[in-house]
Amino acid sequence: MYQWSSERARRLPVTAIVEITLQRTAHYFRERALRSGVMLSNGQLWTDFAKKKFTDWGEKSITHTVTKYDHLQQSASVVTKRQQGLGFNTHVVKLANRECSCGKWNQFGIPCSHAQKVCAAYNINAASMVKDYYDVRAYKNTYSKALQPVQSEEYWDVSNFELVHDTTIRTSTRPGRSQTLRIQNEMDWRQTRARQQAQRRGESSRQSNVIEQDYPQ
Ligand SMILES: [Zn+2]
Repeated sequence: MYQWSSERARRLPVTAIVEITLQRTAHYFRERALRSGVMLSNGQLWTDFAKKKFTDWGEKSITHTVTKYDHLQQSASVVTKRQQGLGFNTHVVKLANRECSCGKWNQFGIPCSHAQKVCAAYNINAASMVKDYYDVRAYKNTYSKALQPVQSEEYWDVSNFELVHDTTIRTSTRPGRSQTLRIQNEMDWRQTRARQQAQRRGESSRQSNVIEQDYPQ
């Protein structure tokens, strides 16, 4: 959700990154809470995404041809016209298992056009098969929680615990030097400089040892 912003934010101090993340999350929650109110007042059953998908697939299903097979499995084959070029596609739907061979029903949790066609053939309400997590009330409930603004650090309560760095978290399972794709910020530069300085110190002390060995006093 914050991919683009976090890439830019890597160039900022850590406190600013945390503040940006909190502000954006608060904005995200506020917008969705407002939108869920509108969706409920419109009498919408599902979120905008689910509503559009279900409607689009419902319209598409009109062009399909269905052949019923087993009543117990509520299975059927659905023949669809290919979008480009000539020819047809055949998909297999088993309503009892909530599955279609196209994979979209399983992927989105919304009956695809093929499944909706089979629902109509078996006189089943396809809307009852949309996953609960698209329910507008569930959506509203998710985003109704209020995020609290945070005051400056000097006003924080003093913590009664000590933060302990867990060294096992960064233990590498692969041999060799670990690589990172992370965007570097000034904290890394400081670390890199410190490491380079430490290496230089190490090299110069080794060189002085060599000199001492080459030219023993
Ligand atoms: Zn399908």
